[in-house]
Amino acid sequence: MLYFRATFFVFISLFLLACEKETAVQRTQAYNTNAILWHQHAAEYKALAHQAFNIAKVQIDNLPMPQASLKPWAVVTDIDETVLDNTPYNAKMALLGKEFDKASWFDWGLQKNAKAVPGALTFFNYVAEKGIEIFYISNRYEGQKQETIENLKMLGFPNADAEHVLLKGSISGKEPRRDTVENTHQIALLLGDNLSDFSAVFDDRTAGKAHENVEKMRLLFGSKFIVFPNAIYGHWETKEIFDNNYDWTPAQKDSIRKAKFITY
Ligand SMILES: [Mg+2]
Repeated sequence: MLYFRATFFVFISLFLLACEKETAVQRTQAYNTNAILWHQHAAEYKALAHQAFNIAKVQIDNLPMPQASLKPWAVVTDIDETVLDNTPYNAKMALLGKEFDKASWFDWGLQKNAKAVPGALTFFNYVAEKGIEIFYISNRYEGQKQETIENLKMLGFPNADAEHVLLKGSISGKEPRRDTVENTHQIALLLGDNLSDFSAVFDDRTAGKAHENVEKMRLLFGSKFIVFPNAIYGHWETKEIFDNNYDWTPAQKDSIRKAKFITY
């Protein structure tokens, strides 16, 4: 009888644990679901992307001709969720109940099947027609360089080559790669969906610093910095919601998200 009770207790405990785990994963995926659907189906997302590129085009049209003594203009852009749309990857992971991992991300990249963000192709070809070079500074892994270049090239993006596609080596911060571009060019515009695409001041997101710096640099948004929406992922989530800790369980993430809600 005692043996039966103990076995029953263990069985019930394991069952409850499994339920708790599954519920937490489901909650995590439920959180992602709406963000992914918004990117893929909200006409407002499309409108925001066009709005960003329209503003960027005005800035390109207003650029003064560089004096002969000065370096030529360049445009620096991020790739993911600025030029290429990776939401099919996020959707697949959500359906599988999984979170981002390097192996599946490489698999998606190898398919070279990412589509262009609305308005991107028209804008970057316009920039190229003006004789301005484009540098793609992305934190895709260096090992993804070939397929990334091919994906950009297949879609018809200009400057899709090894010299202009600068991926993440040992340093994830983008400032050294921006400095490399500035050795030979003046950066007219930076485009990205993450504040770190614009300046190293945004790399530190502790203690509300990103919010303070956005206020301080507010005049640059829409003039030199062109921001794209990304409600699915980014430093706003990894650094600000989850304090740069990648080891939280789905249940912990769920609790942290709810604890961060601002309510009344
Ligand atoms: Mg990005």
